[in-house]
Amino acid sequence: MLKAIYPGSFDPMTYGHLDILKRASLVFDYVIMAVVGNPSKSSLLPLTKREELIKLVIQDIPNVKVDTFEGLTVDYAKKNKVKVLIRGLRAISDFEAELGMAQTNKELYPELETIFFMSKAQYSFISSSTVKEIAQLGADVSQFVPNPVNEFLVNHFNLHNK
Ligand code: ADP
Repeated sequence: MLKAIYPGSFDPMTYGHLDILKRASLVFDYVIMAVVGNPSKSSLLPLTKREELIKLVIQDIPNVKVDTFEGLTVDYAKKNKVKVLIRGLRAISDFEAELGMAQTNKELYPELETIFFMSKAQYSFISSSTVKEIAQLGADVSQFVPNPVNEFLVNHFNLHNK
């Protein structure tokens, strides 16, 4: 069985992430969407909330599960006996950081292959940080994020912007 992990902050999950995940689920037997909880990186959504929202979004995709972890992605991959790591590429600007990360991971875990999925044109401008910024300013982000995420953001900023 060919398993893959799709790691990321997913703070929050967007339609861009969902598209990569769905396409990966057609290529691999099993995909783990692995949400990173890195204490040094500040996030809007707590790790458990990010996981909970993703669970709601992926419930109809049978060969995908969501999990959370802290620490190095390679350690998580080794522990779960996964040898494929999926990342998404939106534009050339993503490439430099992704190349460095893939090369570092290769040093740390030589059997691990990073596989990139190119973003669909319609999602290539969507980022979690832009979504958060505009949701905070009260704009509608329902075209960029799945429904459960949109509902969370609307409630969150309604409470906090009062
Ligand atoms: P990071 O893991 O760097 O904190 P994210 O959680 O936002 O970043 O994203 C996880 C992965 O999904 C990364 O490989 C990122 O490039 C990719 N990604 C983010 N947004 C999109 C998008 N709109 N379309 C395709 N891939 C994306």
